[in-house]
Amino acid sequence: MIVSRDKSLLYPPFADQLRHFESRLATAKLPFHLFMAFRTLECQDELYAQGRTTSWKIATNARGGDSLHNFALAADHILDGLPDKSGIQWSWETRATSGVLFRSG
Ligand SMILES: [Zn+2]
Repeated sequence: MIVSRDKSLLYPPFADQLRHFESRLATAKLPFHLFMAFRTLECQDELYAQGRTTSWKIATNARGGDSLHNFALAADHILDGLPDKSGIQWSWETRATSGVLFRSG
């Protein structure tokens, strides 16, 4: 299973737009970080199974081949819930009162 944050695996014009987007996030001091970019078809199928064959929450409605991630054309950015703490504390909070989840793909 390959899940990658490596921008060099993305379609180059998309990767360029992503770098521009991330520089704007940094300028605005918004603590969002790249969480997932390219996904193999196998990884997409495993993600699709999550919540359907396990007790985890459903993470996606896209099967392998149905997501732009599989074609190196999508990236997900997640909020660092505690930006003052070192490292990234991934936040899955989606309520506007305590955080915002932004998904670009
Ligand atoms: Zn996505």
